[in-house]
Amino acid sequence: MSNDDTDSADEPPTEDQDFDLDLDEVVLDEDDDEDSKGLFDDLLSGEPIFENKEVLRPSYTPHELPHRKEHINKMATILVAALRGETPSNILIYGKTGTGKTASAKFVSQELESTSQRYDVPCEVEYINCEVTDTQYRVLAQLANKFIEENEAYIDERVAELEGVLEEVEDARPSAVLPETEFDSTDAVRERIDGLRADREEFEEVPMTGWPTDRVYSVFFDAVDYHERVVVIMLDEIDKLVEKSGDDTLYNLSRMNSELQNSRVSIMGISNDLKFTDFLDPRVKSSLGEEEIVFPPYDANQLRDILQHRADVAFKPDALTDDVIPLCAAFAAQEHGDARRALDLLRTAGELAERDQADTVDEGHVRKAQDKIELDRVVEVVRTLPTQSKLVLFSIISLEKNGVHNVNTGEVYNIYKRLCEEIYADVLTQRRVTDLISELDMLGIVNAVVVSKGRYGRTKEISLSVPIEETEAVLLSDSRLGDIDDVQPFVQARFDN
Ligand code: ADP
Ligand code: MG
Repeated sequence: MSNDDTDSADEPPTEDQDFDLDLDEVVLDEDDDEDSKGLFDDLLSGEPIFENKEVLRPSYTPHELPHRKEHINKMATILVAALRGETPSNILIYGKTGTGKTASAKFVSQELESTSQRYDVPCEVEYINCEVTDTQYRVLAQLANKFIEENEAYIDERVAELEGVLEEVEDARPSAVLPETEFDSTDAVRERIDGLRADREEFEEVPMTGWPTDRVYSVFFDAVDYHERVVVIMLDEIDKLVEKSGDDTLYNLSRMNSELQNSRVSIMGISNDLKFTDFLDPRVKSSLGEEEIVFPPYDANQLRDILQHRADVAFKPDALTDDVIPLCAAFAAQEHGDARRALDLLRTAGELAERDQADTVDEGHVRKAQDKIELDRVVEVVRTLPTQSKLVLFSIISLEKNGVHNVNTGEVYNIYKRLCEEIYADVLTQRRVTDLISELDMLGIVNAVVVSKGRYGRTKEISLSVPIEETEAVLLSDSRLGDIDDVQPFVQARFDN
């Protein structure tokens, strides 16, 4: 209610109005008085950068997906069968991370569900992220419980409908109402209502652990088949599920249709790994991949468009200098055309500008953001290394810190051995340590090049590819490595050998 509406003289002022008036005065007073500004006022007013930062976060689902129209249309062309009551082909979607697979799939599923409601066709979409829900048990349990919930809602709706029929019957003669329905007597209606209620009582939610998998499957199966409908199950990050738990889930899901009486299931799998079907049972592979859609990486121009769309909503007008978006796009294009990376860069650049209390985000902020994101990645990778790899890496760092560059495997191994002895860790063979060094190389933490030593054979020259101080700090934050006192003597000893 705005003040203008209530200004009329014939209405006595209510308490609310009095209060409104007082509040206005108080606020005005404060504005006049500089001294009364609070701790946060300056911070709040000095925010020239973001209008709505949430729009740049990964959790935000955009309503518009530039450069994915073709892919979205292809999905829709396949899934439209569900709206005709037919079973859509299974779909497999591939593409590297950040190519818009999840965003497109979610967009399509929202459209599909809302259209099915508008046309009143029974069609449901269930989305599961298999990175989180990563075992057959959990996938089936989650699906079972979702369908039980749907079924309960379906029963409630149906019971209300039938109770409406009974009411109408009471008002008019049964013979005028019942012929419109599938029932020939009010008793039959009542019986159906009782039956539905009894079904509802019988649904049993699946606990998140503890049951035999067969039992979970059968509850899931019954829940799906409870009434006529087409169900689309979206399994995002499906490669993670297969990697962790094999392809049993997919096998079971893909052969369900031959046993379902009332409903039909269609599966849409989304994978970041282009080769993941190599690990599948051939039957699962051919059933799942009836239709395949590949999401290619974005190029720098496409990333620019995507960023521009989001930036228009996320930032205040004129908060970005002209080179910001092209630079974010260029960096992310190098990073296999990853839109997530592009958005992270843009958001981080904005946050850095905010922290600097700058009026605009400029190229410098983007470069700093790039370094920060890269460092965050390194920290995360190093932090989660197994202890043995950490010891190997720490050995390389110790050598570098003592001015020994381009070390070879033997030198690393000597230091590594002594470190292990110092903290009572198992000592691996030099062969294994060489493998660990190759792994560190693949992770981009070290750079190992094979050099020929003439008739002495070949060796690896190893150098660090990440910032030394920060990496060392992460290693030392591991409680086991934290016990290492001073490596100086070992490194010195190397020269005595
Ligand atoms: P994927 O699932 O392929 O790893 P996502 O769909 O999660 O990628 O996309 C990563 C981020 O980029 C998300 O924040 C998403 O909203 C955004 N994004 C991807 N493609 C587009 C696009 N075409 N238009 C707008 N935003 C996009
Ligand atoms: Mg995804």
